[in-house]
Amino acid sequence: MDKVYLTWWQVDRAIFALADELRKNFMPDVIVGVARGGLIPAVRLSHILGDVEVKVIDVKFYKGIDERMEKPVITIPLHGEFKGKKVVIVDDVSDTGKTLEVVIDEVKKAGASEVKVVCLSMKPWTKVVPDFYVFRTDKWVVFPWEEFPVVVRE
Ligand code: 5GP
Repeated sequence: MDKVYLTWWQVDRAIFALADELRKNFMPDVIVGVARGGLIPAVRLSHILGDVEVKVIDVKFYKGIDERMEKPVITIPLHGEFKGKKVVIVDDVSDTGKTLEVVIDEVKKAGASEVKVVCLSMKPWTKVVPDFYVFRTDKWVVFPWEEFPVVVRE
């Protein structure tokens, strides 16, 4: 699968753009970061929006690049008070959309009054199109906090 590499600068610009849209359209009470990929954007958004509370959920689904398990499994459940709150779920990519489906369900079950989804990037085939996103690509996205492959000359 082809890859596309994003820089810190591109990602930070994207997060500021997402923060602007949230400020105009949906100021959250709580941000839920989906571990691991959603954590850095979730924390950054929280600071930009003026210290919005951050909660975490961890969902395991991928074993490698484009290699999935049968279904997403929650490995760290949601904790905290969500009743009547406006919640923004933040992840890096919506690919199949299955991870977000599970997370949206959990946040609704926890009693959130309104739920929106923010992703840095989405794939054209996803079944969960985020309410706010910046990049759209069919390639594997490599984020600046991920490991870059090093080529060692023989
Ligand atoms: P989905 O459940 O939508 O298929 O996958 C969501 C999760 O898989 C994301 O939270 C992300 O961690 C990982 N993922 C899917 N596609 C990509 C990609 O192109 N790049 C990276 N870095 N992670 C991806």
